[in-house]
Amino acid sequence: MPTPELQPATLAVVTGRPDRADGAPVNPPVVLSSTYVGHGVPPGDVPVYTRLGTETWLPLEEALAGLERAALPGLVFSSGMAAISAVLDLVEPGTAVVIPRHAYHAALVAARRLERYGVRVVEVDIADTAAVVAALQDSDVRASVLWVESPTNPMLEIADLPALVPAAHAAGAIVVVDNTFATPLGQRPLTHGADVVVHSVTKYLAGHSDVVLGAALTNDPGLHAQLRERRSIGGGIAGPWEAWLALRGLRTLSLRVERSQASALELARRLAAHPDVVAVNHPGLPSHPEHERARTLMDGFGSILTLRPRGGAAGADALAAAVRLWVPATSLGGVESSLERRRRFASEAPTVPEDLLRLSVGIEDVEDLWADLDQALRRIG
Ligand SMILES: *Cc1c(COP(=O)(O)O)cnc(C)c1O
Repeated sequence: MPTPELQPATLAVVTGRPDRADGAPVNPPVVLSSTYVGHGVPPGDVPVYTRLGTETWLPLEEALAGLERAALPGLVFSSGMAAISAVLDLVEPGTAVVIPRHAYHAALVAARRLERYGVRVVEVDIADTAAVVAALQDSDVRASVLWVESPTNPMLEIADLPALVPAAHAAGAIVVVDNTFATPLGQRPLTHGADVVVHSVTKYLAGHSDVVLGAALTNDPGLHAQLRERRSIGGGIAGPWEAWLALRGLRTLSLRVERSQASALELARRLAAHPDVVAVNHPGLPSHPEHERARTLMDGFGSILTLRPRGGAAGADALAAAVRLWVPATSLGGVESSLERRRRFASEAPTVPEDLLRLSVGIEDVEDLWADLDQALRRIG
């Protein structure tokens, strides 16, 4: 049985395997069955019906818990948003959710939907610790949830999690962290006292842009039971192939993140000196406002960077059209490098610059990635 003392790179490989009996497969089987044979009310965890639970989820749930250092198995969902919706369904009417103004846009939309139940949504600059703490302490706010994303998507703001968690708890709020960008290799929010971690497994954890999947993790048995109930009733369950593919992708997480993080930092440094680039943002650059905080709190700086080319939104669109290797596409965290002008969507926060391109660095050779960006920048410059 793997123990939490193992390093994350090892855990990603060894957890969620069948027992080592002679003749046993090294990979878990995919079970395709919507229902299970049973008489009367079966005890405990004996499967009954696949919406309520199936053994095909368990190896992935075990592996995710190992990586996030969660005491309880993870809960996989049909998408990151299904996991986020289940967590937001726990918010009591008349309370407030304090959330980054640059949280993932669909998470913000889902939070705002709670306003019809008298929930207040208080948007904050999650990097501004004093402002977040003030919102939590405001007696008019009555926060029940502090939502954290760090780095934020796409502004890459870094939250001071060790300072925010006790402040939220003192105010009677639980702390939920969307850890999609950092991955559990970059930070493990539960070890800082966060109550729930959510993931878009679609991104780095699965890592190959071939599945949509989500997960929630907690150490708290009460929260675990509630989220599990939300999954069973809401029905946002993972398909067996998706769960299996995500686990297969997870095996190489540390190699992929190691490579893409190193390339992202190298590209950010080079782009910052490029004559056709107006601005570059990446937590690994000393010019990033929370660079020191990221250096202290994270292992690595993540594989996302943003750049603003010359020529405004039209310049950014031209750059996205001029690249040959980089894929112009939404989403992120795949083995292939991709880029996107976020404000092409009307739903993106108006405080995100019109000309901002979000770059998700994959695992290709960094020199090829650089050469492609450089030729595209020169062409539009
Ligand atoms: C993509 C993403 C989500 C949503 O996940 P889906 O799997 O697309 O539902 C949530 N948070 C962040 C930070 C994301 O990047």
